[in-house]
Amino acid sequence: MSSNFTKARHSLKTDFNKFIRLRDTRGQSCQCISCGKRVSYGTKDCQAGHYYPGISIYRALEFSEINVNVQCFKGDYEFQGNQFNYEKGLIKKYVKSVIDKLVLQAHNKSKLDIALCMILKKQYKEKWQELERKYLPKFKL
Ligand SMILES: [Zn+2]
Repeated sequence: MSSNFTKARHSLKTDFNKFIRLRDTRGQSCQCISCGKRVSYGTKDCQAGHYYPGISIYRALEFSEINVNVQCFKGDYEFQGNQFNYEKGLIKKYVKSVIDKLVLQAHNKSKLDIALCMILKKQYKEKWQELERKYLPKFKL
């Protein structure tokens, strides 16, 4: 993969993760998907954690809104995703059929390219900006 693609993907990730953090915490706080710990928006503990990790074999789910949820730092890093408890959290948050669909998609080939990264980046930027206006009106310019 070209470095331009890597850059575009990284740039998308910034906006996607910000959207996930604002979606789940509503700009305040929420429970970690895998351990239930309360995490506050804007802290180190507020990670956008993957159920299927963002590694090459699961690339198709790297930017899946179901696959990525707010997770505490410990759960995201120390326990390498804490997958068993993460699954329990997913089932609590979504319906089982949604998780089944995710499992089916897990080994799909990623369709992501530079153009799609740029489109998605724009969409997620608009999404998080909307959430920020809704939940954090003090940041309005
Ligand atoms: Zn946790």
